[in-house]
Amino acid sequence: MSTIVRYFDHAATTAVKEEVLNEMLPYFVQNYGNASSLYSVGRKSKKALDEARIKVANVLNCNPKEIYFTSCGSESNNLAIKGFAYANKNLGTHIITSKIEHPSVLNTCKKLEEQGYRVTYLNVDKDGLIDLKELEDSITSSTILITIMIANNEIGTIQPIYEIAKIAKKHNIRFHTDAVQAAGTIKIDVQEMGIDMLSLSAHKFYGPKGMGALYVKNDINFEKIQDGGHQEKDKRAGTENIAGIVGLGKALELANNNIESYTNKMLDLREYYISEITKTIPNVKLNGHFERRLPGNANMSFVGVDAEGLLLKLDERGICASAGSACSSGSALPSHVLMAIGLDEKLAGSSLRITFGDENTIEDVKYLINSIKEIVEELRML
Ligand code: PLP
Repeated sequence: MSTIVRYFDHAATTAVKEEVLNEMLPYFVQNYGNASSLYSVGRKSKKALDEARIKVANVLNCNPKEIYFTSCGSESNNLAIKGFAYANKNLGTHIITSKIEHPSVLNTCKKLEEQGYRVTYLNVDKDGLIDLKELEDSITSSTILITIMIANNEIGTIQPIYEIAKIAKKHNIRFHTDAVQAAGTIKIDVQEMGIDMLSLSAHKFYGPKGMGALYVKNDINFEKIQDGGHQEKDKRAGTENIAGIVGLGKALELANNNIESYTNKMLDLREYYISEITKTIPNVKLNGHFERRLPGNANMSFVGVDAEGLLLKLDERGICASAGSACSSGSALPSHVLMAIGLDEKLAGSSLRITFGDENTIEDVKYLINSIKEIVEELRML
């Protein structure tokens, strides 16, 4: 007997929307041309590439020339941070980030440290928020870049982006933000928000995997980090993945058009889930900020319960959830994010991340709550 799958791990990835897939399909077999070729199949690909770039630029409120397509959110973060650091070394070698960034930011920063750069990793408070005073106090005459995510992938906390951008501007420092979790859920206007560089990834907003984009403001000097052809204005070598690019453009446009109703739906599901879980299960702790959090994120620790065991038992019931981020699963180490907000190893190891998405219904959430309740009781008895 096959179990119905109920998916609550949308921060890990999402299914491609049918409308997105339909727009992508012609670019695999019919219009497969290389966008750099001058004949008609190539020109069709070039047209699709240009149109997708315009769509992304319209959503972010920037010029299409400021959009670079990449292979994923991780590559966008690498290109933004390394590309900027290498090109601006003459201006300074200090970078500021936070302790709860995604590994594609943290490990990029570590690599730069090995190459002679200095990196400040800002603390976060118990809710996952950085301290703006600590940020400003960390700035030195050598600081060239601040890179802080809009929203955290594990606990959903949303940083004070406007204020960070203001501080960066005041000190003539550039501001990059990892918007991989925020894009498609939070309205982004790079001009209004004062963002200089921004990374996003299609598979988090119902687009294809292996497809990212990077916004870089036109007055920013940055270097390519991959050698090859001259694609993407010579900043990102490699034949363009037209189907993926079309999918990213369509998925972002769709998400942006439906952002309010989507947010409201996520809030309804999440509020119901959190209130029922706290009402019916004792000794539960919500991780992350109570209000300043992604609408679809509920990360909770169940005291005395091993999250791995909980996940396995949920899986037996057809429920997909996560104990941390997908990128850190398989690692024996406790989540760096949960440790940074002050959880001890035990509590960090008892946390369950539920991230809601478009296909979830209130019935699914009731089934989820009931399952968690039964499994937590069972595991606590052991
Ligand atoms: N940044 C954040 C906040 C993420 O959550 C992720 C993926 O989980 C990434 C970056 C990396 O994106 P990608 O999987 O497209 O490399």
